[in-house]
Amino acid sequence: MKVVLFGPPGAGKGTQAKSICNRYSIPHISTGDIFRKNISENTPLGIEAKKYIDNGQLVPDEVTINMVKDRLQAEDCKLGYLLDGFPRTVHQANALEEFLYDRKESLDTALLIQVPSEFILERMTGRRVCPSCGASYHVKFNPTKIESKCDVCGSDIIQRKDDSEETVKERLAVYERQTQPLIEYYKDKDLLSVVDGTKAINEVFESICKILGSE
Ligand code: ADP
Ligand code: ADP
Ligand code: ZN
Repeated sequence: MKVVLFGPPGAGKGTQAKSICNRYSIPHISTGDIFRKNISENTPLGIEAKKYIDNGQLVPDEVTINMVKDRLQAEDCKLGYLLDGFPRTVHQANALEEFLYDRKESLDTALLIQVPSEFILERMTGRRVCPSCGASYHVKFNPTKIESKCDVCGSDIIQRKDDSEETVKERLAVYERQTQPLIEYYKDKDLLSVVDGTKAINEVFESICKILGSE
């Protein structure tokens, strides 16, 4: 199964991706997580990406596309994967389509988690993440069991630098301008599925499982 997960910042992509990948035993490929890992390791890719991420801008398409193509050629992607946060532009979507076409493969679904912008700020400013395993929490909507410790791996959770109010507003504007066109793009290709991301986390997951089926 090959699935694309998209939606505004704070829609719940990361949260749902973890559950989907457990349920369907496919790798979780989050471009945001890959960039953050490179930033923490100070690699050339990380140094380049940081300039954009800290300002709420997208990392340039060519950098992002090459990174994803590399990742998709790894052995664990043979039977499928979930792309979380890629594609984010029509150019990226075309590159993915070409990559799949060359391999005689295709996407099963492009899943949009729809959340109106008035929900986003509270979600993002209350978000806490685990720097080790990428798990996402919320101070009010999804707190950790033990204060400040990741439920999955026990690391100290942190607030992302780009989750400040100012950067979130910029990211939302970037989403509307550069990523929202993907809704029409995938609708035209008959690949679009939409879930209501304003529901509780477990309800959103149930809706997603209904769409993905029992594969
Ligand atoms: P994204 O990867 O789309 O940016 P996350 O999965 O990190 O989003 O979720 C953003 C924030 O909102 C996190 O703090 C998360 O705990 C919280 N969250 C996710 N889904 C829901 C939901 N259905 N209801 C309320 N809060 C949610
Ligand atoms: P969120 O979970 O809030 O949607 P991500 O963790 O997916 O955010 O991404 C964090 C940042 O990494 C983005 O704001 C952007 O700067 C960069 N990024 C992630 N994915 C992409 C992509 N496909 N293209 C360009 N930049 C990306
Ligand atoms: Zn963790």
